[in-house]
Amino acid sequence: DVNINQQFIDFHQLTDSVNRHPTVLGNKISYDSVASFYNYPVGLTLPYRLNHLTFFFSALDWAAPHKIKYQYKIDGLDQQWSEPQAEPFADYRNIPPGEHILRIRAMSSTQKWGAPVEYRFRVRPPWWETTAAYLFYGLSAIGLIWLGINWRLRYMRLSYEKDTAETKARLAAEANEAKSNFLSTISHELRTPLTSIIGFAKINKKNLKEKVLPNIPDDHKKMKRSAQRNFSNLDIMIQEGQRLADLINELLDLSKIESGKVVWKMESVQPNDLIQHAINATSSLFTQKTEVELKTEIPSPLPSVSADQNRILQVLINLISNAVKFTESGQILIGVEDTKAQTEERVTFFVQDSGMGIPKNYLDQVFEKFKQVEDHQSGKPKGTGLGLPICKEILEAHRGEIWVESEEGKGSTFFFTLPTIEKEVI
Ligand code: ADP
Repeated sequence: DVNINQQFIDFHQLTDSVNRHPTVLGNKISYDSVASFYNYPVGLTLPYRLNHLTFFFSALDWAAPHKIKYQYKIDGLDQQWSEPQAEPFADYRNIPPGEHILRIRAMSSTQKWGAPVEYRFRVRPPWWETTAAYLFYGLSAIGLIWLGINWRLRYMRLSYEKDTAETKARLAAEANEAKSNFLSTISHELRTPLTSIIGFAKINKKNLKEKVLPNIPDDHKKMKRSAQRNFSNLDIMIQEGQRLADLINELLDLSKIESGKVVWKMESVQPNDLIQHAINATSSLFTQKTEVELKTEIPSPLPSVSADQNRILQVLINLISNAVKFTESGQILIGVEDTKAQTEERVTFFVQDSGMGIPKNYLDQVFEKFKQVEDHQSGKPKGTGLGLPICKEILEAHRGEIWVESEEGKGSTFFFTLPTIEKEVI
């Protein structure tokens, strides 16, 4: 007889005898058949949980049944036979998974061990020790190693990229610094001789005009013509010299802003004050262009803005000068968009002209350094192509924006925004 986990089981009565996979103590067992006349299954296979077996046996000796002794062992689990005992059972707990053979032998009064009988059974491994589980462990281990290697590689690549980016950024910053230093040194060196060249050209022009030209007798026509040519040459020298000086000043200014060396004097400013200042500063431009009319459009009340007044004036003057430069006739409108129509966190200024406009493909480029619309340059006082990039830098430092809307032949409108100072609405 075989007891499982200390329970007597009537194997002949187990229900699922067709498939021989009945449930015992809540677990599936299986066997090939049940030995007739005995209560033990042949080819028993047990799950890991049912690994406490008690085997009952008996030998026959009609003459002296009380002298019968038994010995048993399970191959692989026991080194040798158990001590001879009179009790006809063997109890095994925690039988490990695997195929097992229990051997039992008996001795009667003749003092000779009989041939052992053997009983084969099998304990299935728990799910975590099955082949599938080992396969899973193997795959998981490979997966983990793969993940580890991948992670390490990724980490190495990222830190390499970070190092390279940092090195690049450092080199760029150093190059920028070197460029700014070079620019400011060169510009200063150029500015001094240039100022004296322009100065002397102006003195010469004045002398020529006041002292030389009036004193050339009318019959010295050749001399007069030559003096007049010198006079207009000097004019060109002064104009071009002035343009060069402007370029140097703007380059210096831009490199100063770009390198972060400008100290911004932020204060609370009223938008209409800014516009009024800009109009006053550019009034002389309009006296030369009588066909162009200047108008303003300033709604009230308007919140104050946070700005470096001189720098924003520089932006406005630049935009107005451009508007005058590229408009032959019509009007230039300077103003502020109505705050009711926009968020209260910013004020939008605009400078609108009815001039030649900017072709679509140039719209994005006019804020880039040295970009000038080619068609605009003929017959116009030449600029530097640095005015708008400087405006853009100034506005970025103010946390503002600048953009342009334009239609070729109809005119352009430059907009820029400045952050407001809360609660200061007049
Ligand atoms: P600059 O005026 O010194 O050439 P800017 O950076 O101020 O340099 O302007 C760049 C170019 O953008 C100008 O050369 C011109 O082609 C174009 N531009 C700027 N403002 C206007 C405008 N109001 N109307 C038409 N074109 C303009």
